[in-house]
Formats: sequence, structure tokens, C-alpha cells
Amino acid sequence: MGGYGSGRRSSWGGKTTTESQRRIDIRWMKRQGYLRAGTMGNLIWSNRGEQTGLITYSMVEEGMVLNYRYRINGGEWQPVEQSIIFDRTPCNYGGHRTWFRCPRCGKRVALLYGAGKLFLCRHCYDLAYGSQQETMSDRLMRKQRKIRERLGADMDLFIPIWQKPKGMHWKTFGRLRQEENRTNYRMNVIMGKRLGIYFDG
Ligand SMILES: [Zn+2]
Repeated sequence: MGGYGSGRRSSWGGKTTTESQRRIDIRWMKRQGYLRAGTMGNLIWSNRGEQTGLITYSMVEEGMVLNYRYRINGGEWQPVEQSIIFDRTPCNYGGHRTWFRCPRCGKRVALLYGAGKLFLCRHCYDLAYGSQQETMSDRLMRKQRKIRERLGADMDLFIPIWQKPKGMHWKTFGRLRQEENRTNYRMNVIMGKRLGIYFDG
């Protein structure tokens, strides 16, 4: 039956470039038999015996719902509920493979990362930069994330920055926010040009 937390607890290990991140691997979930509709349980991450994350999942028709708490920079905990849709592709040898649809970009992916408030694909969180050639928009995105890191803001670029870190001067906070805004604007111009949209100024 698989009721809440009925033996469906597990922790993730595995060494990857993103090992410090909370992540969900759909292949792993499938192997564990968690993808059956109606299944519920907890996913727990730990690092050297210390729990670093806990979410509750429940499988619904063609997807799952995640529930967890999130806070920025030692602020108030807030409850988050996130729905993730699944997608299927046929396998060569019969059967099918199940994928997550990234809730931000819609890409078909096997892994979702909880690097900010939401679980998104690595492209949306830009977790794999480094070796690849950087484009202008990558550079701008990286700059935005650097500023966000300094401000203790969410790494999801779509979530606005509003909280000033304790101990930071309002002037510094204002300047960094403005800089992030400008970078964001430049990025929109680049993205817009790609899509054939032009901004004024
Ligand atoms: Zn994505």
C-alpha cells in the first residue's frame, strides 16, 4: 500500500559535480518502485550522517507533488508545494523510459536539483558551467548568480531579490540589486534578439 513514510525512506549518495546539491533522480525512483501512482514517502539527503534535506513526495497521475519547507538566508521557513509532470519515451527494446519535465523550461530530464526554492533542471540552475564555452548570456547569468550568492538570494533567476542580508549596508544592497537588474535587462535583450523581440534603449 505504501502509506506515508512506510519504509520508503532513503538517502542519496553518489559522487557527481553537483553532489552538494539536493537532487532527485527519476531512474533511481523508478528502480525503487516509487513511481507507481498513489505512492507516498519521504526523500532524505544527508552528508556525513547529517541530514541536509527532506521532502515528501506523492505520486499522482502522470507526475508527482513535492512538499517541503524552504528558507533563504536563515529567514522564516515557508512551505512549498511543487508539482512535477512526467513524460515517457519508448525504449528500443520495448517498454518506456520515464522523464521529468523541468517545471521551468519544459526540458525532458532525469535529474532535478533543489538548488533554490524549486526543483529544476541543471540548465535552469546552471550547475554545469565551467568547461563548456561560455556564451554572453551564460556570462551574464553567472554574474547574476554571483550577486545572488552575495545577497543570500534564491539561485532561481526568476525569483525576485527582496531580502537584505543581516549586517549588509542598505547602500551596498541597493547597488547590488541594481547591478543584478541591469544584468537581467542585458540578458533579456540578448534573449529577446534570439526570439526576434527588441527592447527600447
Ligand atoms: Zn529547466
